[in-house]
Amino acid sequence: MNQRTQHELPTYLNPDDLGPWGIYLEQVERVTPYLGKLGKWVETLKRPKRILTVDVPVELDNGTIAHFEGYRVQHNMARGPGKGGVRYHHDVTLSEVMALSAWMSVKCAAVDVPFGGAKGGIRINPRNYSQKELERVTRRYISEISMIIGPDQDIPAPDVNTNGQTMAWMMDTYAMKTGRLATGVVTGKPISLGGSLGRVEATGRGCFTVGVEAAREIGLDLVGARVVVQGCGNVGGIAALLFHQAGAKVIAMQDHTGSIYAENGLDVPAILQLNQSSPRRFLADSNLGEIISLDEFWDLESDILIPAALENQITASNADRLRTKIVIEGANGPTTPEADDILASKGVIVIPDVIANAGGVTVSYFEWAQNVSGYFWEEDVINARLAKIMCDAYQATAAVAQQHNVTLRTAAFICACSRILEAQELRGLYP
Ligand code: GLU
Repeated sequence: MNQRTQHELPTYLNPDDLGPWGIYLEQVERVTPYLGKLGKWVETLKRPKRILTVDVPVELDNGTIAHFEGYRVQHNMARGPGKGGVRYHHDVTLSEVMALSAWMSVKCAAVDVPFGGAKGGIRINPRNYSQKELERVTRRYISEISMIIGPDQDIPAPDVNTNGQTMAWMMDTYAMKTGRLATGVVTGKPISLGGSLGRVEATGRGCFTVGVEAAREIGLDLVGARVVVQGCGNVGGIAALLFHQAGAKVIAMQDHTGSIYAENGLDVPAILQLNQSSPRRFLADSNLGEIISLDEFWDLESDILIPAALENQITASNADRLRTKIVIEGANGPTTPEADDILASKGVIVIPDVIANAGGVTVSYFEWAQNVSGYFWEEDVINARLAKIMCDAYQATAAVAQQHNVTLRTAAFICACSRILEAQELRGLYP
């Protein structure tokens, strides 16, 4: 690269292993030829605006002190305050949080909600800690990042292994630190603390909505359609339930303990009940279907496949084996660029994460709007507005994909990156 423009990789990255951030960079490369004059600004997308790494020390129940590494990355805030969840996972890395923050920028722009992109994470396996310990971790983490978050700065939300209770602790910690109760500092809160009706189900509902659109496009009847779902949480579980209620057969589901299968369709409501049971139960010991191996799971023939767990699930090593018609990316980053190419060559429709799972952040936007205005909406209004945003985004993306003969992912990136960079260009550089 030209020395005067300083386009080298930021030094905080390992150039030999870029991790999920490398996947995101590859996706940006693919969209660059379509950005026209806005391409002048594309480098903005290739480096996060702000990265904060924090030490999170807490006293455990047994009196010892544990330290966890926490991150908050604000990728781009040209279109609005940063927005994005906080994930608790023992494998969280900076590269991953950077990629997730960038996907939030693209996602918010793709569905045109007025936010930028951000993401947070703590390297912790929450299953190994008590509720009281997790509360202390959450409060200390928010305290450490409090100087860069706020209802008009950056608004955290739930993600993998965080939930309404986590958001309640975050909101309270922020209120205690600032001396003001700003409910809009986080979204995904419990209803009794200013949360929005429909938020818990929103991501899964959005997956279902775009799945219906894609099925209609290829003439697939949902009644009797075979659906395979990876993940039984908020996203996969709700999406599975909605497809089940629409008459589809959810023939296989997978969680971190294993995969289960039933040729005539699983009892999805019973599977969702496992989460509520105390102690919580998981698929492998549920007796709700035949246990199958990971290989058998990916080999299953289906009409719709919903990866709704973590990144990097559909890769060059299994994409060729998939026998499905539509992939709905409930998770963020489940498909690598090589796998994207393989699926495209097989004619599989991949509804990319930045559209497919945008229902969550869309209702987060509704929650934030309700919080800042102090006026709350009814659930049917929320679901109708969500459905309209998801359908419009899907149709606009499909039209761009057809116009340029590109995948839905590249099309979504064309729409989203153009919006971000247009805002960037209008704002110009300060000072
Ligand atoms: N964590 C969710 C996502 O990845 C929701 C983010 C939000 O609501 O801000 O889209």
